[in-house]
Amino acid sequence: MAIVDKKLRMTKQRRTILEEIKKSKSHPTADKIYDLVKKKIPGISMGTVYRNLDILSGEGLVRKLELAHTQRRYDGNIKNHYHILCTECGRVDDMITMGVDDIEELLGARSHYQITGHRLKFFGLCPDCKNRVKQAASVYRK
Ligand SMILES: [Zn+2]
Ligand SMILES: [Zn+2]
Repeated sequence: MAIVDKKLRMTKQRRTILEEIKKSKSHPTADKIYDLVKKKIPGISMGTVYRNLDILSGEGLVRKLELAHTQRRYDGNIKNHYHILCTECGRVDDMITMGVDDIEELLGARSHYQITGHRLKFFGLCPDCKNRVKQAASVYRK
């Protein structure tokens, strides 16, 4: 992996934290990351994990997701992409979007602003919650 490219010193702890986030597809919370890392480094403290998460996201090696609701989550995919949040269970998935990748360029040209960022979030029910709601509704009807 070409992640040690930066000046940032990669301690074993930091590297393990980064690897666990990169491996996870579920946009884990800090607590979840702590659980995962603890399996690899049993003695690690929560404070160490939190501190390293701050450093890693500050260096742009992981993305900190601000999704209202729930705890802060982290994403190993630092490419620009969008998320959908389940308002029932808090699950977060990547959202496949089409045609918005060059939105900043497009709107920058139109507004004459220099656009430095944007946020786009989706909310809804994940497949599991959608089914649960559907089942509950059909039981209720009987
Ligand atoms: Zn859900
Ligand atoms: Zn993501």
